[in-house]
Amino acid sequence: MGIPLITASALRKSYDNGREHINVLSGLSFTLQSGEAVAIVGPSGSGKSTLLNLLNGLLIPDGGALNVFGVPSSELTEKDWAELRRMRIATLFQDGNLIPTLTVARNVAFRAGLAGLHEHDGEALLAQLDIADTANRYPDQLSGGQRQRAALTCAFVMQPQVILADEPTGSLDYATAQKVAPLFFDAIRERGVGALIVTHNPELAKRCDRVLELREGALHPWDSAMSS
Ligand code: ADP
Repeated sequence: MGIPLITASALRKSYDNGREHINVLSGLSFTLQSGEAVAIVGPSGSGKSTLLNLLNGLLIPDGGALNVFGVPSSELTEKDWAELRRMRIATLFQDGNLIPTLTVARNVAFRAGLAGLHEHDGEALLAQLDIADTANRYPDQLSGGQRQRAALTCAFVMQPQVILADEPTGSLDYATAQKVAPLFFDAIRERGVGALIVTHNPELAKRCDRVLELREGALHPWDSAMSS
């Protein structure tokens, strides 16, 4: 049994753009434990990105409670959240989150350095994902799939305790996607990482400990038979 890393209780979030009020999360409860991978599925617009950005502190819930590494989010300042994102919670955004003015190698070194770690692990990760040859290229000189793998390297090189990933294999072909799962499952096994993975990749989802569906503002056990 793992340790609870992030716990959400009756979490609510809506957006108001002046014209309409969009209720996205309406009482979502969930715990991510150390040493587990949880896959999240759900149609576009169901709130998956919103959920990830509530769990990493980039968005603030309208209601409910969030507990992060044992601390209620109501007690966390912006500075605390920034520190959590620098050291303990890595988010893999769909668009890659690489710094455009740095080469891949410098991006990786920067992320490792921010977390107070050495950059040499990055080289092994780049090789593991078959993109060692892109180390001296800038993000705009990479294909979408290479950018996604470079972003994965940046997330894993900081050795976070929580990884929040938005479609980490979305830009990858089948063979390359197969190389991504070991990154997650090695980190989970070796360091007790907790991973929340938004994915429509059935192979990746199948390897996770639980698959939950985000539907009508809350998480439900996913019934794959009903969806196929
Ligand atoms: P998903 O990641 O599942 O596609 P999102 O979390 O991106 O879903 O979005 C959930 C809903 O909230 C969508 O209807 C989207 O249009 C809306 N939404 C997301 N971000 C904003 C925003 N900043 N302002 C207004 N509406 C938003």
